[in-house]
Formats: sequence, C-alpha cells, structure tokens
Amino acid sequence: MSSEDDKLMEASLREATKNMLISDGVSSTHPVKCYELDLNMGKSQDIDNSRTLDLLKETKGSFYYRLTTNTIRGSSWLKKLNQAVWPYLVPEIEQVFPELTKIILFEDFPKNYGLYLHITQKKEQLNTNKFRTDAYLFGHPQKKKFRSPNEFLPHFLWLLAGGTESGSECFCQYCNSKNSRTPKRNATLINTPKGKKAKILNLSP
Ligand SMILES: [Zn+2]
Repeated sequence: MSSEDDKLMEASLREATKNMLISDGVSSTHPVKCYELDLNMGKSQDIDNSRTLDLLKETKGSFYYRLTTNTIRGSSWLKKLNQAVWPYLVPEIEQVFPELTKIILFEDFPKNYGLYLHITQKKEQLNTNKFRTDAYLFGHPQKKKFRSPNEFLPHFLWLLAGGTESGSECFCQYCNSKNSRTPKRNATLINTPKGKKAKILNLSP
C-alpha cells in the first residue's frame, strides 16, 4: 500500500472511531489549583524545575500542571492508551497487523476528560529541590481520577461501546468497585447496538 493509501485509511479509521466514542466526562471534576506548562522547554522534558519549586512554595506543597496532548507526558499517556485499545478493536492485531498498533486513533482524550500532573512535596522534601510527580486523568463523573492508561482502559472501552447508551455497565474499578475487571479481549466491542463496530472489526489484510 502506498503511504497515501495509508494516510487515507488512518484518517477514515480515526473518523469512524471518533464517532463511536461517547463521553461521560465532566469538566467540573478537574483540579482547581492548576497551572499551564511552559511548552518552550527542551525536547526531553516539559517541567521547569525552578518554576515548579516556586509554585510549590506558593501553593504550600501541592498543585497541578495541565498535561495537554502536545506535552511529552501527555502524548506518551495517550500513546499507551491507543496501543492498549487496538487489540480490542482488531482481534490478534499484534500477530496479524503489528504495524497498525502504531497508529494513533484517538488524538485526544474523550470530551471533558483531562490529564494533569500532580506536583507534591512531602514534609521531608520541604526546602529541597525534590518533589513528586503523578499523572492523573480527570473527568469521571464521580470525581474519580484514573492513575494510568491501563486503569482507564476498561472505562474507555465502555465509552467506545456506547457508554450508558449501550445499556451495559462499566466494569472499571471506579464505576463498579465490586466487579472490577478488564473486559475480555476481542469480545467487548462485538456485541454492540447498531453494528457501529463492524466498520473496524471487518479490517482485512
Ligand atoms: Zn467506568
């Protein structure tokens, strides 16, 4: 296939999956004490240490940076989520189309979801140059925060399968703490209403 064909296929896949994704995100659940990152930092990092230490003083040791998808950590989180979703869209993809898993289908988080970096300084780190950084995805309607792409995956798959409109319940650990589990690979998106998923599942070499 020519690279033009590849681009066209990627674009149509992106469009199809974007239309499938229904968001339950709520922006009012995002952190309030939040700062934008300075995106003019070097290529290998996106946190300015001296500014971060100043902000830690100002905020008494705890605040958030918003990680947009053009930050290093933001794009890496999104890439991991994309890679984790692929096997649920195309069965056996790692064996059959390993190249496909590199395609970023979802270029952003579901609507009203946002990734943040929590910067904290423990008591023993006060007045040192050390601090902790933990990325969390906010937007869950019950104010829960997802700590990793894998933790968000079951909820994301549920949104992709239609969310509340699908009539099925979400098995992520926050929606359903008793039954927390990741849906079975290859089984999740097949039995969905209106045959929306068929577009993707019918990929052939
Ligand atoms: Zn959930």
